[in-house]
Formats: sequence, structure tokens, C-alpha cells
Amino acid sequence: MKIYTLPDSVVAKISAGEVIERPAYAVKELIENSIDARASTIDIQIEDAGLKQIIVQDNGEGMSEEDLKLSFLPHTTSKLDDEHDLIGIKTLGFRGEALASIAAISTLTIKTREKQNPAGYEITIRHGDIEHAGPVGTPPGTIVRVDTLFLSVPARKKFLKSAKTELRLITNVVTNFALSYPSLHFVLTHNGKTIFDLPGRENNLGRIKQLLGNSFFEELLPVALEDGFIQISGFIGRPQSALKNNARQFVFVNQRTVTDRMIQTAVKEAFGSLLPSSSTPIFILEITVPPEIVDVNVHPRKEQISFTNAQEIFAAVKQAVSESLQENNLTFKLAKFRTENSARLGETTSFSGELLKSAVLPWDRSEKIAIKPSERLMQIHQTYIFVPTLEGLGLIDQHAAHERILFEEFVTTFVKKKKDQQAYELNKPLTFDLSLSESQILEEFDQIFTELGFTIDHFQGSTFIIRTAPAVFKGRNLEKIIKDMLVDMAEGELPTIDLRTERMLAFLSCRAAVKAGDVLTERQMKDIIKRLEKTANNATCPHGRPTRIQISIAELDKLFKR
Ligand code: ADP
Ligand code: MG
Repeated sequence: MKIYTLPDSVVAKISAGEVIERPAYAVKELIENSIDARASTIDIQIEDAGLKQIIVQDNGEGMSEEDLKLSFLPHTTSKLDDEHDLIGIKTLGFRGEALASIAAISTLTIKTREKQNPAGYEITIRHGDIEHAGPVGTPPGTIVRVDTLFLSVPARKKFLKSAKTELRLITNVVTNFALSYPSLHFVLTHNGKTIFDLPGRENNLGRIKQLLGNSFFEELLPVALEDGFIQISGFIGRPQSALKNNARQFVFVNQRTVTDRMIQTAVKEAFGSLLPSSSTPIFILEITVPPEIVDVNVHPRKEQISFTNAQEIFAAVKQAVSESLQENNLTFKLAKFRTENSARLGETTSFSGELLKSAVLPWDRSEKIAIKPSERLMQIHQTYIFVPTLEGLGLIDQHAAHERILFEEFVTTFVKKKKDQQAYELNKPLTFDLSLSESQILEEFDQIFTELGFTIDHFQGSTFIIRTAPAVFKGRNLEKIIKDMLVDMAEGELPTIDLRTERMLAFLSCRAAVKAGDVLTERQMKDIIKRLEKTANNATCPHGRPTRIQISIAELDKLFKR
């Protein structure tokens, strides 16, 4: 074996592979260049999912002849200088790699003209070598044409997915730009067919509707927060629109599309018990922070970033989402953990902030169940309550509804330290044994247990004794409930005390609530409905399942084709 230095052309191909792994990434880099050149219109034409041809035409600043001749060489950029180094990057590009990478693995033609010049200049590079250069008539701006991408790297080509998939990925890339830059005109065509043509607008509402679909749009609630140096605006989806994956999560940090686990987690945490742990909310969030606190240079395609103030960003995102859920009466906030130091919605000037302030949301829907007086209620399969309502009919999941009622009562008891919680004394104090970790959890939540009406004392060794319990647990198997709860709490560590508290309260309310299969009297059914209406967050149970479904007469008529 002998070590030797790789020829430049091979090195170029290897590094090109990192940035331009597939056609969509070439499209992304070219659009970034157009945006950095302050274009207002970007026209993207794709042939055969980008493998045959990609054209990105912009009306931006263009390049001089000298700059054009440098632009496709490795590590040439007009966007970084020594002084600023890699701190506080305001442009989308900065690595000076994209054009060089594309040039190494395609036939690249760039036509460009600065506005003040009467003519432009054109250059063609074939697999890294200049094939042609000279003056050309071309409109102000830049046209980049990429022919036969990957022709010289058959190994790479083998890894590409089907043309349909590659086209979808290209469409996703352009969609992201269209969402984060609503003021720019984007046109995307494939094999001569227009996929979309979006004229510049003041905000991205219309684009969300058009690009992500009307049903997506209707599920959205605005989010807006300004807190010191952080500004957050955008939309979150109602709990029922949550998905099993993050396909509908859009995060733009300083208008750059990023995938950020921390932000995803912050949103998910804010939803708390509104969502089951297996699903994840949909959202579009635009986060604006000073460029100095974001490091965009942690990923070759600039898709991931890191923040110097990650914790503050996390808290701000969580708070912004919580506030929106609260404003829309979907969730509570444990007052105890609330921070009061941020600017409230009233002060924000973003578009979604304006929407939030205006009294009527375009998608506001009231979901109150109004029982038709004098009508009888019915229990179906000892699981659902059938309710004739003023508008049609309602169905209530007796367990989910009761669970939410109890959960909110527990939360109120705990947060407001309401002293009048009804407890009952056990006829015969109950003793039970706990493992070390279970007893530690019990200790950790000692105060909450006490506040809820439990009296649990350490007896001796690993034995504990229960003397009193909340009235709602009368007749239930207390030992099993408490033990199950401690096991549940021991599983999958939750990061914060309020999440753990919430989980515990959710567990207790689940165990105390009437079950599917419990026979209810008319009075009990009425009681559940009445209390549910007065309960906060009453659309779902603490695990995120709906508590009730309503069908209007109009919807029934439609079903029966009247
Ligand atoms: P980077 O964007 O990281 O600087 P690129 O290889 O993408 O690196 O581009 C190199 C340089 O070419 C840019 O810094 C810019 O000066 C110039 N350039 C590329 N595309 C355009 C364009 N569409 N309009 C104007 N200048 C461009
Ligand atoms: Mg670039």
C-alpha cells in the first residue's frame, strides 16, 4: 500500500457530494444565492426532477465579469470577511462552496449582469473546467443553469430515490423558501408545467393555505411573542391536527429553514397533556434573534444551527406556544411556574400578533354543548352519553370527560392550594410496601399528595401507611392506584417538575374517573355534562383524546343527502 495525494478533481467531487447530495440541495443553494443577491423574483425551472436540468433565474444584483470568474472556484465568497469571521452571519450562504461543488459534478452555465452594465457575461464550466466565457445579452440579475447533474458521479446517482421523490424534495425546498420569504415572487415549473407561481405578499397566510392546504390552514392558531432579543411569530395547529411525525413542522430562524430538536421539544412540552406522547403538533414558527447568537456553521448544508442562549430560546418558544393555547382556551398553565418577565401579546407588532389582538379569529369556533331542555339523555354501550342539543346531537366519552374534569380540579387544588379539598378517612388504614425508587418518588411528590387530600406516612422499613384519601377515590383500589402511579412516574424521566406533576395529576384523574362500562344514572350524566362545560381545556382528556363530538342538523342533513 502506498499513500498518495488525491488529484484536485477527485477531491472536488468528494466534497461536492457532501453539499450536493441530491438535486434538491442544488436547488436550495441556488435559491439562497438569489436571495442573498436581493432578488425579488426567483424563477425555478426543473427538467426530469433536476437530473437533466435546473435553471434558477433571479432579478438580483448580478455579478461583475471578475466576480463571475471567481464565483465557481472553491472557497470563494463575497459574503464573509476576516473582520466578521463566522460570527453574526446575515446571509444564507457563506461557505463559498455551492457553485464550486455544482461545477465539479455538472455542466454549469451562469449568465449574469449588473444593472448599471449594458451587457452581461456568461461562463460555462464542464466538470470543473471552463468551456466557454464571453459577453452575452441577458436581463439584469443572474441565470444559473445546471445540466446533467451527477453525470460524472454515477455512484451518487445510484443513491437517488425515484424521480417522484426527488421532485417532491425539490418542491419541499422551494415551499420552505416561499413560506419564509413571503415578499418574494417564486415560480416553480417541472418539465414545462407550473407547480406554483406565488407573487410576493406582505405575509405568508395565503401561501400557507395554498402550499400546505386548506385543512391545515383551518387548524392553525396564531403565536406571537416578543421577549427581549427574541421575537417569535407564526402558527401552531390545534391538538386534533397533531401527527405521528414532524412532516408538518416548519422552523425558520432568521428566515433560514432549520430542523431543530430543541424547538420541537419546546413546542411539544407546551402542548403538555393536550397531546398523547406518540403524536407531535404541527407548526410554523418564525424565530428572529440577533445573528450573533446563532451559529449556522454546524452542518454542511446549514440545516442545523446552534444557539448560544439555547435555554432562553427554549423557554421563549414554550411560552409563546403556551400563551396561544391558553388564549384559545385549550390549556392551563400551572401558575406556580409562570414567568412574568416577558412582553405580552399586546406589544407585538408581527402579523400573527395583530391577528391575536383582533377580536375575531377567522377560524374561531365555539364548541359549547347546549343540552336541549326537557330532552332525556341516554348512555350508549355504557361508554358514551348521547345528548340531544340545540343544534343537533352531541356524544360524550364519559371517561375522557370525567377525566378532564377531575384533572382540572386537581390542578386547581394544587395551584391555588385550595384548602377545602374533600378527603375521607379510611375505615382501616392501609399499609403497603414500596421499592426504594418508588418511595423516593413518593417523597418527591409528598407535598402534592398532601394537598390533594392524601395522608401517607412512612410506617417502618419499606412499609407505608395511607390514612386519608381524596373523596373521589372512595370505593377504588387505593393501593393499586398509588403503586401503579409510582411505577408510571418511574418510567421515562420527564425533564421538569411541572411536567411530572402534570403527569401525576393526569394519572390520578384517569384512575378516579368513571370508566367505560360504568353504568351512569341520568343525574350523573347531567352532572358530567354540566361540570365539563365549566371546565377549562374541556375539548380533550389529559391524554389528548377528544371528550365530545358534535354533529349539527346541517351535517346530518348532508349525511342523509337531504
Ligand atoms: P456562498 O453563497 O457561500 O458565498 P456560492 O458558491 O454559493 O458561495 O457563491 C459564490 C459567490 O458567487 C457568492 O458569494 C456571490 O458573490 C456569487 N453569486 C452566486 N450566485 C449569485 C447570484 N444568483 N447573484 C449574484 N451573485 C451570486
Ligand atoms: Mg451560496
